[in-house]
Amino acid sequence: MMNKKKIQFSVLLGIIAVLAIIAFQYLWFREAFNQEKRKFNQSVHIALLEVVKLLANENNSQLPQTNPVEKISDDYFLVRINEEINAEILEFYLKNEFEKLNIQSDFEYAIYDCSNDEMVYGNYVNYDQKGISRSNEAFFPKIDNLVYYFAVRFPNQPVFFSKPTGTWTIISILSLVVLAIYIYSIFVILRQNRYAELQTDFINNMTHEFKTPISSIMLASQFLSGNSVITKDERLKKYSEAINHQSQRLNQHVERILSIAKSEKNSLKPEIKPVVLIECIQKILDQFRSKCEAKISFQFDCQDHNKTVSMDENHFVNVMNNLLDNACKYSRGTPDILVWVNCEHNQIKIGVKDHGMGIPKMHQSKVFDKFYRIPRENSDPITGFGLGLHYVKQVCQQHKWDISLSSEIKKGTEVVITIHQT
Ligand code: ATP
Ligand code: MG
Repeated sequence: MMNKKKIQFSVLLGIIAVLAIIAFQYLWFREAFNQEKRKFNQSVHIALLEVVKLLANENNSQLPQTNPVEKISDDYFLVRINEEINAEILEFYLKNEFEKLNIQSDFEYAIYDCSNDEMVYGNYVNYDQKGISRSNEAFFPKIDNLVYYFAVRFPNQPVFFSKPTGTWTIISILSLVVLAIYIYSIFVILRQNRYAELQTDFINNMTHEFKTPISSIMLASQFLSGNSVITKDERLKKYSEAINHQSQRLNQHVERILSIAKSEKNSLKPEIKPVVLIECIQKILDQFRSKCEAKISFQFDCQDHNKTVSMDENHFVNVMNNLLDNACKYSRGTPDILVWVNCEHNQIKIGVKDHGMGIPKMHQSKVFDKFYRIPRENSDPITGFGLGLHYVKQVCQQHKWDISLSSEIKKGTEVVITIHQT
């Protein structure tokens, strides 16, 4: 299960990535737009120069000395000439030259009439022969101190907005797709996380609900086994013992699941107290020997036999029992288990080593996950919830201990807990 921090982190990372993509996209678009605009301006400039030349040729007049084309704004150009202009001829030349330079835009033009001192509207020329015939806000500002000139306006500017070139379109569609995928996966993750929370809650509630009836059964069966009528009858005694035994087992399972759920929510605050380590482990081993028929040896390499470690003793006992339980469960024949303790000046290592069936490499990193169990192809499946090692890891994290696992198939497994002492 993903925890909240991980999700928050990946969402944050994703948002940064998406913002970066959008910023990049924006810069890219702006660059593309500017480039298109420059290209357009250049083409118009060249075309207008050409028109000036043609007009001069027509009238056998001189070319203007200075650059006759003046860009007033992105969509408005003024062109100086040396003589009067015929509107039809001008339009013909403009159309021709614009076509030659592939300027695919509507335009309109006006010619300055010096006798009236006003701009005379020429025509609206449709690039694709359809649409409006005259733009309604045609405005052709005059320029003082010029005699002959005409003006060209591109009312549909900027054309590049309506017709982005192929590459830009593909790139922006791609990044939109990436964005959509990202948003979708966030939704999926959040939903999944909610399911995981629901699952934890459900297990919590369920085990709570189970506890009361189980305690009643346990109480009743204890009463039954103590009853003289029942102890006299061999068969009844066997039945009541079975009830007693099984209800205790059930209770243990429920307790274990509950404690995991609690440790996950960190609601079970560890009660840290100094514990004499060697003595504590010896006690655990003595108790465990009666539960499992195994050869369990204990080695310790500590100068100070009464060395204390600050920890929650209950949790530690559960951790050791879980590790021993696994070592026992996943061995064939009589389990051969070695528990060792190694004290160095600022760290203590505790190891539980067995000579059992081992864990395949591909599963080793996952066995600490909640509910993770390795599918065994054995005819007699070994039962369990896949919670033991998860609990062990939780406790180690709470105490800031390191835990490592090494294993080889058919040779055995070793789990080592490292306690740092400051
Ligand atoms: P539970 O402990 O909740 O009863 P479990 O033992 O299956 O169930 P874990 O203790 O978390 O769950 O172990 C997870 C898996 O790791 C187990 O299914 C088992 O296959 C594998 N495993 C754990 N310890 C050993 C070991 N000492 N040797 C071989 N396999 C192991
Ligand atoms: Mg286990």
